[in-house]
Amino acid sequence: MKYYVLDRGDELSVNLSQTFHKLAFEHGLRLDAEYPDIVVSIGGDGTMLHAFHTFIDRISTTAFVGVHTGHLGFYADWKSDEIPQLMSLMESHANGERPRIASYPIIQLDIIKKSGTLSTLCLNEFTIKSVDGTVMAQVDINDQMFEMFRGDGICVSSPSGSTAYNKSLGGTVVHPSIEALQISEIASINNRVFRTMGSSLLLPAHHHCDIYSRKEQNLMLTIDHLSIPVNDLISVRCQVAEQKVSFVRYRPFPFWTRVRNAFLD
Ligand code: NAP
Repeated sequence: MKYYVLDRGDELSVNLSQTFHKLAFEHGLRLDAEYPDIVVSIGGDGTMLHAFHTFIDRISTTAFVGVHTGHLGFYADWKSDEIPQLMSLMESHANGERPRIASYPIIQLDIIKKSGTLSTLCLNEFTIKSVDGTVMAQVDINDQMFEMFRGDGICVSSPSGSTAYNKSLGGTVVHPSIEALQISEIASINNRVFRTMGSSLLLPAHHHCDIYSRKEQNLMLTIDHLSIPVNDLISVRCQVAEQKVSFVRYRPFPFWTRVRNAFLD
């Protein structure tokens, strides 16, 4: 089995990463930075976003495992003192035992600018925000105009991203087995002149939405942890991607337990 480790860069994560390499060598796993079967992210959920984007071109053949150096996260099942246990399970996997793979929907983005097109994927969410002033954008669903948005911005999240930025915006928490994307507003302006839906919308996998820029504006597009300034946006198409992201579940950790651990306990 070929593996790669990506850590957050802080002292604890770097040390754990070194421990992981040592144990992997002893257990006969092979380090491969280019074509790993399993990518181990050591840090937090934010580190998993980096791991996802590092291997974005190999999403259909790579599976991810997360080790958390703080609290257990949404993408990180393992605590820092559990690396020997994880390694034994990875060794059994390398020797033919098949672990459960959880496949989560991700979002396909097609960003069309006057200066060119960018197609990419996101794990948590895409946002469109203004750098200087109110965002003015037309939201179409399945090629029909839905609303004219004015406000701070729009967030389009995946089910596994629904517990991140989306949740802070009052969006709903969606189980990642549901193939959908969620559109949430960031401080929309609603009065007698301007009107938006006001609640978040959940689109199924066979629907799509297009967000059209409706004035010359300096925008900031975010794709997970990445930010892209854009001043010539035409539109962004968002839909559930054909590909999914795979996480190796060497042991059960139900989504609702994660939600409870993160927000209620
Ligand atoms: P950050 O600002 O350093 O951390 C954002 C926080 O979001 C971290 O606590 C991170 O957990 C947590 N997180 C990431 N993915 C999550 C998920 N799927 N469910 C629940 N919590 C999650 O930024 P970052 O580490 O580079 O992460 C970028 C993410 O930050 C974006 O994708 C966005 O979701 C989130 N964000 C949230 C807000 C907000 O809630 N107001 C605003 C901007 C961005 P760890 O501590 O485990 O890494």
